[in-house]
Amino acid sequence: MKLADTGLTQDELKGLVKKYMIETYERYDFVAERAEGMYIYDPDGNAYLDFYGGIAVNNAGNCNPKVVAAVRDQVGDIMHTFNYPYTIPQALLAKKVCDLAGFDKIFYQNSGTEANEVAIKLARKYGIDHFGPHKYEILSALHSFHGRTFGALAATGQPGSLAQDGFGQMTPGFAYAEFNNLDDFKAKITDNTIAIMVEPVQGEGGVHPATQEFLEGLRKLCDDNGLLLIFDEVQTGWGRTGSLFAWQGYGVEPDIFTMAKGLGGGVPIGAMVTKDPIAASLTPGTHGTTFGGSPMCTAAALAEVDEIVSRKLPENAAKMGEYFIEQGKSLPHIKESRGRGLLVGFEFDGTVNAVDVKHAALKRGLLTTAIGDSIIRCIPPLIVTKKQIDEAIEILTDSVNAVAAGKE
Ligand SMILES: *Cc1c(COP(=O)(O)O)cnc(C)c1O
Repeated sequence: MKLADTGLTQDELKGLVKKYMIETYERYDFVAERAEGMYIYDPDGNAYLDFYGGIAVNNAGNCNPKVVAAVRDQVGDIMHTFNYPYTIPQALLAKKVCDLAGFDKIFYQNSGTEANEVAIKLARKYGIDHFGPHKYEILSALHSFHGRTFGALAATGQPGSLAQDGFGQMTPGFAYAEFNNLDDFKAKITDNTIAIMVEPVQGEGGVHPATQEFLEGLRKLCDDNGLLLIFDEVQTGWGRTGSLFAWQGYGVEPDIFTMAKGLGGGVPIGAMVTKDPIAASLTPGTHGTTFGGSPMCTAAALAEVDEIVSRKLPENAAKMGEYFIEQGKSLPHIKESRGRGLLVGFEFDGTVNAVDVKHAALKRGLLTTAIGDSIIRCIPPLIVTKKQIDEAIEILTDSVNAVAAGKE
C-alpha cells in the first residue's frame, strides 16, 4: 500500500496510530512505505540504511526478489489451510532444515516466542514421561530473552523488568543462573531440572556472546546430569553469527533448538528442531497450531533459506561482522565494540545516551536499535557490504559526536 493512494498525509497516518493502537513501542519517527535490499524508503522517497533488518529478520535483504516471487506464487495456489492435509512447501522445508542442521524433526510455529513455547513444552513432557511428574524445571540465564508469552516469558531471566513486572505470578518451573558462569549453572541444578536453555549470543540482553568454554561446559553438564540442552537461536540462527546456526560455529550441538526471525525472510514463522527420541514425547493431540507451517510462510522460508545458503550469507556475516566490530572500536566514546558475525553491539562509556544516538542516527538516515542507555545494537541484513558498513560507522561517529556536544 502506498500512502498516496490513501489520501492521508504522513502526520495524519501517525495520528491514526496514536489514536487507535495500543502503543507498547517507542516509535521511530518515520513512515516505512517500501523496502529493497539494504534500504527502507519513506513516502517522500528518503532512504534509510537498514542496520536493524526488521529485527534480525530480513537476512537475505529486504523484499528479497526470490522470497517475494515465492510468496506471490504460493498465495495464488493455496495460502492457508489446516494442518491435516499434506502441503508441499511444508514438507520440502522440513527436509531442508533437518538436513542442514543434521537433526531429525521439526515443529512449525508462527514466531520466536511460540517456537520457545513448544521447546519448553517438549522438554517438560519428555522429563515427566521419562523421569516422573517432578521433572519439569528449566534452568535459563539471567538477562536472557526468550519471548513474551507466559512460558517463554518465565524462561526470560529478567525478574522485575517491564516485561514481567505487574503481570502476576510467572509460570512456575523456571530458575535462572548467570550467563557465561558454568559454576552458577551447576549449582542451580536440582532433582527437578530437566533442561538448560540459553541463547548462544544474548541479543536483547546487550549483545553478549557465550564463551566457547561456557557452551562446551553446558553440554557436558547436561550429559553428566541427563538434561536436555536447548539453544534459543531465534536471533542467532540462519547465518546471523557467521555460521548457519550459532551452535555449528561453536561446535556444540544442542538437543533442541529454536528459530524464527531470519527463517522466513519477513513472513511470520518459527520452528523447533530436535532428535527422534525426544520428539517422540509430542504425540497427536499434545500440541498444535492453526497457522504454524502455513503454505505461504513455508514457501517464503524455502526461498529465504535457499538464498542464505546459495549466496553464502553466513560467510559474509562472519567477514563483515569482524570488520564492523573492528571499525566500531574507533567510534567516539566507545567502551566496548563486541558481537559475533553481524550481531553487533557498541557499548558507550556513559558520556552519551544510546537512545539519543539512535535517534540522531535515524535523522541521518541510519536505522539501528538501542539496548538500555548505553548500547547500540546493529543487526543488518547479511548482504551488507564493506562500503555500507563504512557509511554506518561514519553516521554513527557523527551522531555520537553531535549527542556528546549536546546538539541533539
Ligand atoms: C526476538 C526473540 C524472541 C521472540 O521472538 P518473537 O518472534 O518476537 O516472539 C525469542 N528469543 C530470542 C533470542 C529473540 O531474539
